[in-house]
Amino acid sequence: MTAAILVRYGEIALKGKNRMFFEKTLLENIKFALKGLGARVVRMHGRLLIMGAADEEEEITRRLSRVFGVVSVSSVETAPLDLEAIKEKALEIMERSLLPGDSFKVEARRSNKSFPLTSPELNRIIGGAILEKYPRLKVDLENPSFQLFIEVGAREAYIYHDHVAGPGGLPVGSSGRALLLLSGGIDSPVAGWMAMKRGLRLEALHFHSYPFTGLRSREKVIDLCRILSRYGGKMQLHLVNVAGIQKEIRASCPAALGIILLRRMMMRIAGQISRSRGLQALVTGESLGQVASQTLESMIAIDSVTSMLILRPLLGMDKHEIVALAEKTGTYEISIRPYEDCCTLFLPRHPATRPRLEKVVQAEAALDAGGLTAAALENMETMLIED
Ligand code: ATP
Ligand code: MG
Repeated sequence: MTAAILVRYGEIALKGKNRMFFEKTLLENIKFALKGLGARVVRMHGRLLIMGAADEEEEITRRLSRVFGVVSVSSVETAPLDLEAIKEKALEIMERSLLPGDSFKVEARRSNKSFPLTSPELNRIIGGAILEKYPRLKVDLENPSFQLFIEVGAREAYIYHDHVAGPGGLPVGSSGRALLLLSGGIDSPVAGWMAMKRGLRLEALHFHSYPFTGLRSREKVIDLCRILSRYGGKMQLHLVNVAGIQKEIRASCPAALGIILLRRMMMRIAGQISRSRGLQALVTGESLGQVASQTLESMIAIDSVTSMLILRPLLGMDKHEIVALAEKTGTYEISIRPYEDCCTLFLPRHPATRPRLEKVVQAEAALDAGGLTAAALENMETMLIED
């Protein structure tokens, strides 16, 4: 038995000349998401049709509902382009479905203009056939308790009644490539998810402080990448040890500026990695006002070391909204594992909340920023993660 699943994609249809590129990217991402399932993807006018084994239908739908660019998916019945055949399938679906109320609506869409009936005509005829078989039902165009959809395609018609929502957004890769600064916390994986939702393909960069941070922290970040790869495909993860940098900062700089100085080193390193790998922006999980290093003054002091564009998708979000998204995407469970992060490790008791840039630059003069950056990059590890 084969199952047919209709995929709707929204925003990309609006993108004019870019449409071909968007569709191609979406198609590739869907094929990647369905890898190993033996499903076939057929392009249709403004839609995609997935043909797969009936016993894999649920899994296909689940995976499709994670692909950015997908607005919704529906399991459909297919019928030849013949009114009687369409009617028969429509009645079959009605018979199979638990009708939740006493009203319904038929909504036909005809992309194949050579089909002899218009959409309103189809609505009337199929609606009439349903009324004849189920006299207790009535038609309600405004607020029906049951909807039956018919799409007349080039070679077949598709009849269905429910939609599973996709994540929307733009296909990953259609907006460019960026580097996600991924800690083991709650925020940065959500920031990554949101950046991917707007079509960015990501590589991830994690700073650790081995041996002060253990292998469990490393595993945690790998697991987070694994979850993100469900949405964005295979992901490069770069691991950079900043233990040496932290030691230098502690030895030579005022404790209150420790976090800011470490962040500035992280940005330098991130900027260099981005440039050498042709990535166009950095993505962080910063929000505004959450902690000392997330005031405007701190962000200014941190950003000023790099000319890279820094995207902060969580800027306008409250913590509980971020947590809700983390739960929805599946990263929350991993983020709350208790292993230490390099930034919390040497946390000063009273971090500066409104550091003046001149003061920061002055304090930093005690460090060999270039040498430390180069040394950290020399020992960078890179791995390719997929779920
Ligand atoms: P998160 O939950 O993402 O750790 P947070 O609320 O704890 O964020 P900070 O600790 O101030 O905030 O970190 C701000 C951002 O800096 C993070 O979201 C992340 O993008 C980046 N960052 C912090 N620590 C690391 C790290 N060890 N490796 C890579 N990026 C980091
Ligand atoms: Mg953190």
